[in-house]
Amino acid sequence: MAIDKHSTPMLDQLETGPWPSFISGIKRLRDQHPDPRINNMSNSLLGQLEHSYETRKGYWKGGTVSVLGYGGGIIPRFSEVARAFPESKEFHTLRVQPPAGNHYTTAMLRQLADSWEKYGSGLITFHGQTGNIMFIGADTQNTQPFFDEINAYGWDLGGAGPCVRTAMSCVGAARCEMSCTNELKAHRTLVNRFVDDVHRPALPYKFKFKVSGCANDCQNAIERSDFAVLGTWRDDMKVDQAEVQSYVAEKGRQSVLDNVISRCPTQALALNDDDTLKVDNRNCVRCMHCLNVMPKALHPGDDKGVTILIGGKRTLKIGDLMGTVVVPFKKLETEDDYASLVELAETIIEFWAENGLEHERCGEMIERIGLANFLEGIGIEPDPNMLSHPRQSSYIRMDEWDAAAQAWYQGQAAAGR
Ligand code: SF4
Repeated sequence: MAIDKHSTPMLDQLETGPWPSFISGIKRLRDQHPDPRINNMSNSLLGQLEHSYETRKGYWKGGTVSVLGYGGGIIPRFSEVARAFPESKEFHTLRVQPPAGNHYTTAMLRQLADSWEKYGSGLITFHGQTGNIMFIGADTQNTQPFFDEINAYGWDLGGAGPCVRTAMSCVGAARCEMSCTNELKAHRTLVNRFVDDVHRPALPYKFKFKVSGCANDCQNAIERSDFAVLGTWRDDMKVDQAEVQSYVAEKGRQSVLDNVISRCPTQALALNDDDTLKVDNRNCVRCMHCLNVMPKALHPGDDKGVTILIGGKRTLKIGDLMGTVVVPFKKLETEDDYASLVELAETIIEFWAENGLEHERCGEMIERIGLANFLEGIGIEPDPNMLSHPRQSSYIRMDEWDAAAQAWYQGQAAAGR
């Protein structure tokens, strides 16, 4: 039966740009999907969206929707203009955790899509900002059966609200030669330990894990996660001098001087007269620039491990924060190494849960109480590598810091200042 399509002149304009349009995608569901329920839902959704554009107002409100045993993972959406657009009056989003490294098989994707078309709108986002697969548009009644079905073949809801959120890891060694750690294992190990904290929001605010295999940080772990695990190495980088020479022959000496040598942030590189490369490994800060530009010639060293940074986050309150290095280098090879990674995460989450204010991210708490107190609280010795600008600070002194500060204040008071 033909449906009475809402007119969408404003949304139609969004299809005229050079990029694929989400409006075209929703229209395909409205016009071409064999299920009339999905046609009607999509039509209604387009109608409400056009209405929002006309009136410059959003009409979705929240509420409480969940599945049995879970306290989060679903973002409820109820329409305030349900009378005009009844088929999409409930349009909840289910957040589902992706596999580590986002490795899917096409069979898995088809299975998920089939379940979603059975219970939901057919609209899926790969992936949302936190990393989840976003199944957008289920009514309350279909939420539980959809979850039960995908859960039975191995998928689980992600986090929403003040909890440990869905973790992410880069594609890793499967496709990247810069990988310095087993990203997928680190990801899975952390998720498996904190699965309860994902499903039952009981923390001051959100807490995110992200794992990147090298300092290129394809997961944006440094600025997007409270607990960033980054692969790195601590011995010398590997240099294939023959490849360096052929790169110089291809690009020209001047180009290599301009684009590789002079762009090293710590001036750790020099080009020899015979077009081979000299690397001052002691001063290399593993920024990845030269390895990215000459991937055939340069590779990470053999002594690989991870750096752990705490407290990254996006805007809100005090503004964007980059993670602070808390563990400069840690081997991550044996089961004991992974156990100590989990132990560190437990200690940090416990300390933050005790000391963080409501709606305060871990990084914001560190800003408020000071890095020295945070390190003392989690039992980690300060290290010069933890400074944001080590090259601009000649030293950091934290032994007997409290006593020294108190003496200074007393001195100031005695001097009447
Ligand atoms: Fe310099 Fe970065 Fe290359 Fe290290 S990785 S030598 S810091 S450009």
